[in-house]
Amino acid sequence: MDSLPETSRIPHSRVSLTRSDRRAVMGVLEAGALAQGEQVVSFERAMAAYLGLRGGVAVSSGTAALHLALLVTGVGEGDEVVLPSYVCTALLHAVEYVRARPRLVDCDPATYNIDPSGVRKVLGPKTKAIIAPHLFGLPADLEELQGLGVPLIEDCAHALGSRYHGRPVGTFGELCVLSFYATKLLATGEGGMVLSNSRRVLDRIRDLREYDEHPRYRMRFNYKMTDIQAALGVSQLRRFDRALDARRRLARCYERGLRSLPLSLPSSPPDRSHIYYRYVMRVRGGMGRLQRHLDRAGVVARRPVYRPLHRYLDLTGFPGSDEAWAHALSLPLYPSLTRGEQSHIIRWVQGFYSREETVP
Ligand SMILES: *Cc1c(COP(=O)(O)O)cnc(C)c1O
Repeated sequence: MDSLPETSRIPHSRVSLTRSDRRAVMGVLEAGALAQGEQVVSFERAMAAYLGLRGGVAVSSGTAALHLALLVTGVGEGDEVVLPSYVCTALLHAVEYVRARPRLVDCDPATYNIDPSGVRKVLGPKTKAIIAPHLFGLPADLEELQGLGVPLIEDCAHALGSRYHGRPVGTFGELCVLSFYATKLLATGEGGMVLSNSRRVLDRIRDLREYDEHPRYRMRFNYKMTDIQAALGVSQLRRFDRALDARRRLARCYERGLRSLPLSLPSSPPDRSHIYYRYVMRVRGGMGRLQRHLDRAGVVARRPVYRPLHRYLDLTGFPGSDEAWAHALSLPLYPSLTRGEQSHIIRWVQGFYSREETVP
């Protein structure tokens, strides 16, 4: 097995941009209207139509979207917000920003998603919101999270286009939050959106996004997206379902190539669809060794969550998250991954285990 030359390393994430994407951006540059304008409105409408929601408000990032979602839900000082421990820090930042108290819940190690029985245990009179991400593209247990009497904020940054009982995620909670960071499913560089079926909520988020020219003063911030970013979003959304098909095809190839190895591959219960934002497998032993072995082959495999939130907060009692952190490894998966690149990755993972067997 030869290593790839340094120039052809296979990154963990790679954008898949087309000529139409570049044309869309050039159109905005040529028109000369760079800031929030027509393209942002088009992007919001197209995304709301894609999900079947009343409307959306495009913002500068997914973290900004989470912050605004908590603000319009009325979460403030002394309130509690439920969120998983196995997730990136964006969620914790948003909770801390509104001065609420984070109540962390462990993940279900089989799906990596928030464990609904853990959610029920931390609910109390101060709970004002639940933030539920659909990790790596697999919907969380929405049926269980919905009927708890607490507003549900669906963080769909990993799962735009995946379905639960046939319905798109993002349409189950009071609010849907998206991120369009450069490594996400739909990538505008930086960017995010809050979507909802409530006109009142959408109007209030629009109000909070812009700091100037309001009749009355209140503390706001500049959370706007540019038309350059939005044009890129509109263009990518047009082919989004094809991009998801490509992701599913790649996931099936990994499954065929890796299923006989001692790894736990991602699976999805029959009532929900996985869109494979990440292909995360559980490596029972030697995760670091497999990662280094792939690195020598020019393949960047990564731990999908940098550090679980309970470790930042010095909390213990999250065995599911600890287990996932210790054993979950994410392989490159994106529509621009070529067949040759994927075969190379599969061969090297197989090679790792055939070598293991021969080591006494
Ligand atoms: C990326 C991400 C965010 C934050 O989005 P940014 O656009 O990077 O601010 C929030 N939640 C999840 C699940 C994410 O993956």
